[in-house]
Amino acid sequence: CGIVAYIGHRDAYPVVIKGLQRLEYRGYDSAGVALNCGEELNLYKKQGKVAELEAYAKDLDTSGNIGIGHTRWATHGEPNDVNAHPHPSGNGKFALVHNGIIENYAVIKEELVKRGHVFQSETDTEVLMHLIEDVMDKQKCNLFTAVRIALNEVVGAYAIVVISKDNKNELIAARKSSPLVIGIGKNEYFCASDATPIVEYTKNVVYLDDGEIAKINLQEGLKLKTIKNQEITPYVQELELK
Ligand code: GLU
Repeated sequence: CGIVAYIGHRDAYPVVIKGLQRLEYRGYDSAGVALNCGEELNLYKKQGKVAELEAYAKDLDTSGNIGIGHTRWATHGEPNDVNAHPHPSGNGKFALVHNGIIENYAVIKEELVKRGHVFQSETDTEVLMHLIEDVMDKQKCNLFTAVRIALNEVVGAYAIVVISKDNKNELIAARKSSPLVIGIGKNEYFCASDATPIVEYTKNVVYLDDGEIAKINLQEGLKLKTIKNQEITPYVQELELK
């Protein structure tokens, strides 16, 4: 339902939590974050309010300058801690937040189970995460390419953001039929389902269009492609700040 992501020089956790609170008006049943602390991805997920997630994570390691967060409105799998986002890949190297519905998840899941994938949750979202991982293993490609290829196999609606344990410089984001905005600051980037979590940091934003995927890299900047692999020049808009 709600997505917030951050990469840059700030601590990601407070930015993500505050952003999720700004999206609370959308309604949700659980909340979660994934943070890259340098050595691993820390995933914290809780059924209930963002405040409950905060209470749960209070004494845990919330360090890291790159993070993704989600408030979930369950469509596939009941509201509980395991079904809450972010969802990790099987190898634990990646984590994904997703708004929307992967309509053909059952067919894809069946195929992945045959190929040895083990699933923790009942969600459509975890299937997409494992599909991305599977493409990466098969094609020996990078995360950006794997997400792009995987999205060509998916039917449904999505706004997603993916992070990696091994790359502290990069977020991958994509959308179809579910909104996603990228905020561009000074050596920092934000992603969110709408601009409310972003306005206090920057007024420069790029609205992703349907079928577009973004590589948000601290060294290379923002690169956009269609999921069919055509390059796109990002159109940076100015938000009107109140
Ligand atoms: N379909 C996903 C799920 O049930 C995402 C729901 C949402 O948009 O919050 O977990």
